[in-house]
Amino acid sequence: MTRMTPLLARNEQFARTYTPAALSVPAEQLLVVTCLDHRVDPAIVLGLQLGDAPVIRNAGGRVTQAVIDDIAFFGFLAKQLFGGQEAADTLFEVAVIHHTQCATGFLADPGFRRQAAEATGLADAALAAAAVADPHATVQADVERLLTSPVLTPKVSVSGHVYDIATGRLTTTVDARYPERRGG
Ligand SMILES: [Zn+2]
Repeated sequence: MTRMTPLLARNEQFARTYTPAALSVPAEQLLVVTCLDHRVDPAIVLGLQLGDAPVIRNAGGRVTQAVIDDIAFFGFLAKQLFGGQEAADTLFEVAVIHHTQCATGFLADPGFRRQAAEATGLADAALAAAAVADPHATVQADVERLLTSPVLTPKVSVSGHVYDIATGRLTTTVDARYPERRGG
């Protein structure tokens, strides 16, 4: 018995009518970066189906070095596997989604942060940088971070959005942009 037992039963139901998606370009030509918060599931919030879009999730939906590395690899993979399939010189859009009521917002409080640093062994500065207190501000900063990363292929655009837990509504903070060096 594990907590997975009822979910395994749900999976059995799912598998009965399942049709596998082929390995190809994500149908929405989109890659989502968002928070691991269980109230912010992009499949449900954005109505994503299997094969629509890869999703990277971490605390806050922050653009960390690990996220940049994954996006760089996915960009390389997309170019290798599917680069010749499209006439346009665009691969996909990265949508960074932060949200209101994010629990990482507690990290903006120095006392809470000190306790978190002691409990986890993570550096105070790293925890401070991870906080999403104002999702509109952090999503803008993270879009910039990704756009200025030297490893991001210029064929990838980046947009920023904020999901409101209270209303279920997603609003766009930063329209999709390509890195400045595009075309250079
Ligand atoms: Zn969150």
